[in-house]
Amino acid sequence: VKTRSFLSARAFRLVLRAALLAWFLPRSPGLLQNSLPSQSLLRRLPLPEPDTYWLTIDDGPCRHDTEALLRVLAAHGARASFFAIGQRVERYPELARLILKEGHTLENHTYSHRSATFWLEPSCLIRSEIMRCTQAIHDATGLRPRFFRAPAGRWNHAVWKAAVRDGLTPVGWSARAADSMPCSNLLRAMSGLAARVKAGDIVLFHQGGHRGRAAALDWFLLQTDRAGLRADLPII
Ligand SMILES: [Zn+2]
Repeated sequence: VKTRSFLSARAFRLVLRAALLAWFLPRSPGLLQNSLPSQSLLRRLPLPEPDTYWLTIDDGPCRHDTEALLRVLAAHGARASFFAIGQRVERYPELARLILKEGHTLENHTYSHRSATFWLEPSCLIRSEIMRCTQAIHDATGLRPRFFRAPAGRWNHAVWKAAVRDGLTPVGWSARAADSMPCSNLLRAMSGLAARVKAGDIVLFHQGGHRGRAAALDWFLLQTDRAGLRADLPII
């Protein structure tokens, strides 16, 4: 009897702990990447064109690889959205204009990409980070972004609300490789990703900080081309 009551008390504590975690995790802002239970976050294309996916490239423009990435995209007839950091748009306005000239879009990824703290900041700072990025893109290109992705994909209600107030649609992703780690084997990561991509996916890729990004993107696009998939801009 003693053993049974001990076990049931232990089981009860485990169930209680699991229930608390299940309640707490989705509500703790920013702890889960690419997730926002209470509001809509675009993570797949609602009405995918047959055989197309949306390629999104974060953290540029970057002096080291933007032009090489643009050449690769052109060679595959692929179009992508660059989720840009406002500070970098200010530093490289000519690259921002080149991205648009090549038929791609520039979207908002905050002004200074404070990925560790952004979602914890007061609403006024969150809002100013988003607005300053939109302003930087507008100053460089004359166009305003339509979409927003939070740094490191960490969301909470304040981040979501600030983006929507600025007229931006919050965007997550449905497929990504571990390509932002400095030591990741890009070619292997992108091969694995290419095997998983389906029509309607929102694919996350990064630029900067890693040699070989253009080669990895080329390899990825080669494989999705062979699978009959096309990287194109969303019709939303
Ligand atoms: Zn980023």
